[in-house]
Amino acid sequence: MKALVYNGPRDVQVREVPEPKIEKPSDVLVKITSTNICGSDLHMYEGRTDVEVGKVLGHENLGEVTEVGKAVQLIKVGDMVCLPFNISCGCCKNCERGLTGFCLTANPGNAGAAYGYAGMGPYNGGQAEYLRVPFADLIVLSFPRTPR
Ligand SMILES: [Zn+2]
Ligand SMILES: [Zn+2]
Repeated sequence: MKALVYNGPRDVQVREVPEPKIEKPSDVLVKITSTNICGSDLHMYEGRTDVEVGKVLGHENLGEVTEVGKAVQLIKVGDMVCLPFNISCGCCKNCERGLTGFCLTANPGNAGAAYGYAGMGPYNGGQAEYLRVPFADLIVLSFPRTPR
């Protein structure tokens, strides 16, 4: 698939990368229909972070679910979904207090995880054709289905 990859300061490029796969039973895959270049992406683009070369950027994502893991109950293939930029487990000490931006599980050793962002875990971003979304039942917002 095509994705926007960080090559180094002031150097990003759309190129071919492997498609994401379901890695855990609570994952879903989303075909991205809209994504955003955020002002905070510029911290990485301009070289002010330690983001790793090869990271796919993009933490503001919308799309259509194309595959669901075996443990996913609420999200269905074909759902149109909005994704928060934080990735959170929903059941750690911080998530249970509503502090999902400081999840202790999604990025072990740190508080907080996100798609395609420096220091926020091993997750690629959604400036790409497809995105792997962990903890899907907790963090995916499905839009109401419209009658056809
Ligand atoms: Zn942002
Ligand atoms: Zn958590």
